Parts: sequence; structure tokens; C-alpha cells
Amino acid sequence: VSVAATTLAFATAFGALALVDTMSASAPLPLRFAAALIAGSVGGVFGALIGATVAKVRSKLIKLPPLWSLGSALLMGAALAMRLIDELSILNRWAGKTKADAKTALTATLCAGVLVFVSLAITQPRTDPKPIFVGLAWRNRATRFASAALFAAGTAALVYVDRHAWPDSYPYAHSVLRFLALTFAGLAIDLTGAISVEHIQRTHWVRIAPALLPAVWFAFAPLTPIGTRIPHLLLSRPLSKYAVSFARGVTDFDRDGYSNFFAGGDCAPFDASRHAMAHDVPGNGKLENCRSESAAPILTERPNTDSTSPADASVVVITIDSLRPDHMSVYGYENTTTPQLSAWAKGALRFDRAYTAGGWTSLAIPAVLRGLYPRNMVWTHLDETSRMRLVRKGVPLAPKEWVKKTFALPLDDPHPTMQDLLHKRGLRTAAIVDDGYTGYFDKELGAFSGFDDYIKTDELPTEHQNDDGTANNAIAQLRKFDASAQPFFLWVHFFGTHSPSTAHKGVARFGDGLQPNYDHEIAFMDQHVGRLLATTDAMQAKRKMIVLVMADHGEEFGPQIRYHGLSAHEGAIRIPMFARGPSFQPGQTDRLTSLVDVLPTVLEFTGTPLPPGLDGHPLTSQPSRSFVFVDTWRFDGKGETILDLATILNGEEKCTVNTLDLDRWCSDRHDRDLSSPAPEMERALNAYLDGSGAITPHL
Ligand SMILES: [Zn+2]
Repeated sequence: VSVAATTLAFATAFGALALVDTMSASAPLPLRFAAALIAGSVGGVFGALIGATVAKVRSKLIKLPPLWSLGSALLMGAALAMRLIDELSILNRWAGKTKADAKTALTATLCAGVLVFVSLAITQPRTDPKPIFVGLAWRNRATRFASAALFAAGTAALVYVDRHAWPDSYPYAHSVLRFLALTFAGLAIDLTGAISVEHIQRTHWVRIAPALLPAVWFAFAPLTPIGTRIPHLLLSRPLSKYAVSFARGVTDFDRDGYSNFFAGGDCAPFDASRHAMAHDVPGNGKLENCRSESAAPILTERPNTDSTSPADASVVVITIDSLRPDHMSVYGYENTTTPQLSAWAKGALRFDRAYTAGGWTSLAIPAVLRGLYPRNMVWTHLDETSRMRLVRKGVPLAPKEWVKKTFALPLDDPHPTMQDLLHKRGLRTAAIVDDGYTGYFDKELGAFSGFDDYIKTDELPTEHQNDDGTANNAIAQLRKFDASAQPFFLWVHFFGTHSPSTAHKGVARFGDGLQPNYDHEIAFMDQHVGRLLATTDAMQAKRKMIVLVMADHGEEFGPQIRYHGLSAHEGAIRIPMFARGPSFQPGQTDRLTSLVDVLPTVLEFTGTPLPPGLDGHPLTSQPSRSFVFVDTWRFDGKGETILDLATILNGEEKCTVNTLDLDRWCSDRHDRDLSSPAPEMERALNAYLDGSGAITPHL
């Protein structure tokens, strides 16, 4: 066994798997073939580096006394397990409502640790007397081939788990699975001895080829269309996508996070202030964000409504987490999930083309309270630390405290909120909010501050931390309001329909599985939102008051997971919305609406002057708008943007741009691909991105 043979075995394994991975994409054969050559060669180079490292580590382990080497292998396995435990927040989940998830994650993590330990231990080519199973794989021809077969089977098993277990979550864990799969394949080839030193000496070209093929790619990368299509094809595959990240990283000369090549989104290779996500300063003649049109406002400012008489109107805004209309019987769903809402909605206006403004709670709720699209607000990066604290980026941490993940909230956004404006207008304001395990609504964090009364339901005893408890608190708050003549504003957020699904005694069940369980949660929510709406009904009979009910965003279903915030698919962005009260004729409407319309509606109803520059239109205004926007983004643990989509839609068609690689795609509202969308949508989307700039410079 030599370092050279192991290096080549790993290069072969990584290259071959990346090649197969790319060839199994769905794309025209020539394109797939070109992409596969690249994936194979970049994979080969990467595999060679890993193979050389494995061989080096192994040679160090051999020199240690047998028990010491066993101990080192054990330490490496344990280190990986510890990292995964942290990455998957297993300890935090254990304490919360997600213990079952935590158990699964812990089992998987320990398996990964044991796998690393066992593979390191049995593949040490030792010659001294071996304790237990160290070096087992190399003992004789039979054990060598048996181990090779085991590692090959391990590769297949790991690939299977990677593709089927939570395919859209836990990116770090998936990277580990992929890396282990590749490593096992390398070990399998290494153990068969199929690649020997003699082979290498005979075929010099084998060593040169992997270095030559990427060179070809680098030469062709800027050429269109293949320069754009190949990276996108590679990015769509679980293994070969790493080839693109690697290639983009190497060609990001100005280190601004964007490459000029491989559809990397840069347009100025040596100017770090210009890239796809840079903020375009209007009127300076410079196109910082690489687009062809300069910044321009897309929505006209609404005039301020002057109001002199004291306010006499009250408002209730109910937001429900992760609720998609096509799972609600009030929208015609076959399962009777929302009997209470159906009864209540007979007296309300139902909006059939309502959309979120942001793909997940932390983007959507600020859009409700500020009347702005997420991209038009100022966002503050927050670190979630190992002590479950949310702190601003850069805040010194306590000893032994570390950052677990990063996201953003509009903590420093200067725009006035619904609660501020209504408080100034003379309304008493209150919020009853359940944010599950997330912490966005934490009082101390202050992202949703400014309410006269603010109750976060997870500060209540555990048994009341559900939609029942949320409704009880909201009803109690309404009774307090009802005792006084002062007009009020109440915001209530229900979390029960967010994942994970829980079972509730005495609530309708619709079968077993992800979607039936979701429906069951909706039925539970409906029961308790129904009680709250019965209370608002009674109050509406006595005072001037509107009740607005909506979801913060929808939900998508994978084979084994529910999620949101990762796409602009209809399921994820279309929401239910209802308005009941004066000026809303009961019935239903196809009018296109967005969460940003809630604030202007509420301000108009209460006679509160509208601040300038709102993105929303009152739900009552005529004519209705022709399109709305939806943003969604995510950051990795270091605060780097890993997803940033901007979508424009008109209720029939929609177009999305991925601002990280400037890829664009359009579809109809059934998510079927469209090749030629309306040109004005494209222009409006460009103008939206130019006018708002990107999120990064504001952070
Ligand atoms: Zn949400």
C-alpha cells in the first residue's frame, strides 16, 4: 500500500461518483456529458487531495502504539459526532417540543461517529500484533475483499440516506453523508488493490488528465450559454454541486463572494464593491449590482391621509403560521379541516389570490407590521448562541459560548410599525404571540416591540403553549379591551400549524402521514381560532372594528418533511386571507393581495396618516395592483447568504431570480415552467431589485 495508490484510488472514486451523479441529471445528453466531464475531473482532483490526506493520517496512525492509534481513531469519530450534535442543535431540541427529532438526529450522529472510527480502525495496514480489529481489512485477501464489498455497500447506503432523509434540511449533515459516501468508495477501491503503483508508473497520463480537464472548463466558463447552463446543471446535483462551489471560490479574485465565471454573479472581477448583491446607489451612474437598468421606484408613494378627529375604530390582526389555503375546507379542501373558519367566513371577504411577502416568519411578519417588502427593510444579522441567546453579530460572547446559526430581523429598520402608528393614533395595543421554539418574538430581543401589552405564550406553563393557550390569552385580552371605550389593536400569532405535527385528543384525524397530520393540526387550530372569532364577532356587533385573518406563509411537502422559505412554489407562498368588518362585502375575490397590504388597510380604517413609501395598497383601494413581490433568503452559520430569491407574480404567472447566480425562471401558478413570461414582469422585477438594492449592504 502506498500513498500514491491510495491517492489515485480516491481520485477515481470521487471522480467516478461525481461523473455518475451528473450524468443522472435530467438535461440534454451533450450538456450532461460536458458537465459530467467537469464534475468528474474536479471530483478527481478533490478525491486525490482527500486520498493523500487519508494515506498520510493512516501512516501517522500506524506509527503509534496499537492502542494509541485505536484511541486516535476513536477521537476523530467522536469529534465528528460532537460537531454534528452542535450543528443539528440536538441539545436544544431535546429540551423543547422536538425531542423525537433530537433522538433521530442523535442516533444518526452517533452512527456517523462510529462509522468514522470503525473505518479508520479496520483500514490501518498494521504489521505488529493487532488489538481487537485494528487493521482487520488488510489481514488477508479474503478480509480485504470482504471489507471492500462492505465499504461499497456503505457508499450505496449513505447515498440512499442522503437522498431520502430530510432532503431539504440540515445541509451540514448532508455534506457529511456525501463526504462519507465518497470516502467509503475511495476505501473500497483502495482495498481491492485494483490500482497499484505499477499501474501508476505505466500510465502517466492518468495523473495529468484530472488537472487538464478543469483547465478546459476554466477556459470555457465565460462562454454562453454553456458557461451558464453547466454550472446550473452541476448545482442541481448533490455531489457535483461542490465542483461549482470550488471553481467559483478559486475564481473569486476580489474576494467579494462572487465569481465572474461559472455563472457566479460577479461583473467586476477586481472590484469588490460590484457584484450581484451590491446595493445600487440610484443616480450615481455606476451599476454596482451588475444589472443593466438603474434604480427606479416601482410603486408611487401614497398621499398622507390627514386625520383630526379622535380614533374610534379597533383592529384585530390574526396571523397563523405555515397555513396553506388548499388544505382548508373554507377554500374547498376535501377534508373538513376548518369548520369554524368556514362558518365565520360567511360574513367575511375571502381573498383567493393572497400571497406572502416573505418565505418564512422572520420575513413575513415584519412585512405585515411595516407594509414593506422584506428587501425594502433594513435587516440586522443575529447570532443564535450555544446558550440559546439571540445576539447582534459581533456582540462579545461569554466564555464557552459560541455561535450556532445566523439569521436576520429588522431590529434597526427605521420604518414605523403598525403598533407604533396606532399607539400614536390613540389605540391601546397588545400582542399575544406564539413563536414555538424559534425565539423571533422574544421580548428581550425587541424585534416586535412597541406594544402596550406583549404576551409571548411560551413564557406560559408548558401545557398552555399551544393554540388553545394562545386563544385563551387573546380572548382574555379582548375582554380587558372591551371593558374600556378606548379603541384598540390586537395582534395574535398562532404557531400550532407550524412543524412538527402534534396529536390532539378529540380533534378530527384524516389518516396517517405528513399531510393528514398537518390537516389534523389545522383542525385543532380552527377549533381555537374559532373561539377567538366568536369573541370578536360579539364585539363587532357593538363597536367599529375590523378583523383580518391570514397566514404568514404556506408550506411545502417533501417525501418526509414539511418546509417553507426555500422556494417560490405556490404551496409555499400562497396564503389564506380574510377581512371582516365595515367596508368588506362578504363573499370572495380574485383580487391580487399581499401581506404588505395589511398595514395600509388598517391605517386607512383607523384614520391614521399613512407613512410615505409603503409597498402595500389598502385592500379596499381601486383598481387593484397588477403584481406583487415575494422575497426569501437564508444565511449559513457565518452569516453568508446561501439562498436569496426574489419573485414577482401577477396571480397567473410568476418569475423568480436567484440573486446569487442571477439565474431566472418563470412558471404559471401551478408551477409549470413558462418559457416566455410577460415582459413587463421581467422589467418590474429588475426595477424591484435595482430599487431596493440587495440585502447584504443593509445588514
Ligand atoms: Zn412562519
